[in-house]
Amino acid sequence: MSLRDSLLRRIAAEGPMTLADYMRACLFDPDHGYYATRDPLGAAGDFTTAPEISQMYGEMLGLCLAQAWIDQCAPSPFTLAELGPGRGTLMADILRVVRAVPGFLDAADLHLVEASPTLRARQAEALAGHAPTWHDTVDGLPDAPLFLVANEFFDALPIRQFRRDGTGWRETMVSAEGEALRLALSPATPHAKLAERLEDTDDGDIVELCQPAATMAQAIGQRIETHGGAALIVDYGDWRSLGDTFQALRGHDHADPLADPGAADLTAHVDFEALARATPSAHSLLTTQGVFLERLGITQRAERLAAGLSGDALASHVAAHRRLTHPAEMGTLFKVLAFYPHTVAPPPGLEAAGQAQ
Ligand code: SAH
Repeated sequence: MSLRDSLLRRIAAEGPMTLADYMRACLFDPDHGYYATRDPLGAAGDFTTAPEISQMYGEMLGLCLAQAWIDQCAPSPFTLAELGPGRGTLMADILRVVRAVPGFLDAADLHLVEASPTLRARQAEALAGHAPTWHDTVDGLPDAPLFLVANEFFDALPIRQFRRDGTGWRETMVSAEGEALRLALSPATPHAKLAERLEDTDDGDIVELCQPAATMAQAIGQRIETHGGAALIVDYGDWRSLGDTFQALRGHDHADPLADPGAADLTAHVDFEALARATPSAHSLLTTQGVFLERLGITQRAERLAAGLSGDALASHVAAHRRLTHPAEMGTLFKVLAFYPHTVAPPPGLEAAGQAQ
């Protein structure tokens, strides 16, 4: 049975479903789920991510983590972790650049959180020789100092969406009209988790909640405060959720999220405030990707690499640097949120950054 047919049956039996339940089914249904069944990355896929654009991205994140590790007196052993590693490109670039940091690789124990069997196989190829351990959720990560990266992971987590109506909220639901899936709004009800948002929203405003993101951020922050470490969470989004950001991407273009369940990537912008507030045990700082990469020296690194290039290779290298950092490209839309223990200075690149807790 197609995923659309099984969703229509489910709606007929149980009534309209939340966007969170719809996203979960479309992304991770074992037979038809978008991530469960394919590698969606790269030019031939549906979207391209920062690590797939240039090795410089992984180099900057790797050196940032290594400096944070040195600043915390080089704990050994420690957990080097990534959430949703995709093709394993980011971690491969990190592992290459940190070879220059004495003791880092000997102390590192590599752990990956990945739900897709297809992508686990890609990661095993890219990281052969580093003996990663895979986990289904962050709860499986060891109780040890934790140095973690997550790039475009949190945007794939299931959200619920609410539209303000008086002092209540109407939830966006997926319902059926004949054989077609349609968005519908539930009747307005008060919602305890949105009580605070009555202060900064008006009638008709849309707010999104991502409970799995908050739960994971809490678990990561708790480990970092208890055992030491740092987390770099990079994604598109803003400090506070406002507006409809639920979207589908297919073939590098926007698509109708209901048109072909399981065939398109479904995402929402990350609410960084919700992640930071879920981790009261650790400090957090937010800055934009462009500023973060510039502070870590991406331009000097780009110039170094450019010296060995010419023609098309040079042109695409220059374009990649611009794409990662320029405000009109990924530089401002993408943000970096860092978690680190109360007792230490922030990881490099985040000092005196915008929003502090
Ligand atoms: N970080 C990579 C890939 C981003 S795509 C990059 O930047 O190129 C999102 C990744 O997160 C995929 O590997 C996907 O399978 C994984 N993922 C999404 N939701 C997940 C979940 N709930 N649990 C575990 N992995 C998940």
